Amino acid sequence: MHNHNSQDETSSRRIGLVFLLNLGFTIIEFIGGLLTNSTAIMADAVHDLGDSLSLGSAWLLSRWGQKTANNEFTYGYRRLTLFGAFLNSIVLIAGSIWVLTQAIPRLSEPVMPVTEGMLALAILGVTINGFAAYRISKGSTMNEKVLNWHLLEDVLGWIAVLVVSVILQFVDWPILDPLLSVGFTLFILFNVIRNFWATGKIFLQAVPDKNLHDEIRHKLLHIDGISDIHHQHLWSLDGEQHVLTAHLVIEGSLENGRYNSMKDSVAETLKPFSLAHTTIEIELKQEYCRDESAH
Ligand SMILES: [Zn+2]
Ligand SMILES: [Zn+2]
Ligand SMILES: [Zn+2]
Repeated sequence: MHNHNSQDETSSRRIGLVFLLNLGFTIIEFIGGLLTNSTAIMADAVHDLGDSLSLGSAWLLSRWGQKTANNEFTYGYRRLTLFGAFLNSIVLIAGSIWVLTQAIPRLSEPVMPVTEGMLALAILGVTINGFAAYRISKGSTMNEKVLNWHLLEDVLGWIAVLVVSVILQFVDWPILDPLLSVGFTLFILFNVIRNFWATGKIFLQAVPDKNLHDEIRHKLLHIDGISDIHHQHLWSLDGEQHVLTAHLVIEGSLENGRYNSMKDSVAETLKPFSLAHTTIEIELKQEYCRDESAH
């Protein structure tokens, strides 16, 4: 237990460091993007702003998102992650649209950016993101693994800016800057919209995994004496912690300890699914279902 806590703490500290690094660099990028007049840098700046926001919320959550449930927030605070992801998506969509309004007109009328400044920022970008990826790669939590993968992608993005700024030192192709910017922004938008949809589904209490939903139903129906399941609702607090409610219809009577053995079988069946909250209603065949419209 002690070990686990101190591991969480160092993980939290690593994420905190990367967050501050990223935020500082984002500010440099926005200023640098304006000074160098490079839309590719601006696209990267918007992307890094999104990264800073998600790192910041990951950091906050690693500190107090794990707080236990109370009488008012009976499910705890896990859904804060969803809220963070939602805000992040909105910022990224707005930022991407702004970059596109800057970059698209330049496709027909390219403006040469200050390539020396671009080069310097790109070197800084590769260094900072490379360092952040290296720091996070020491972590073993799921959060850190996802972050690490993402930071490596960021290094690649900056290598692209680096290559373009080197090319622009030698040739007069200013269109490369808005081209890179538009390409990069469309890539960001594609990912944001995908995440936005995934988050939205969790908000709307969609089944987190159709196969899981079917498998649970199948396994429960396999228990001897269970003839039907209705009002089966499987939803997720945050994509990781799932909640299940269901009505199980039992054949025959529940006397002579059958009620207890039934409950034991249900508990045994549900155990491997590691659900966070389960509520099971046991109904007799002739019993009237309290909830409206069976489904
Ligand atoms: Zn990133
Ligand atoms: Zn229902
Ligand atoms: Zn029922």
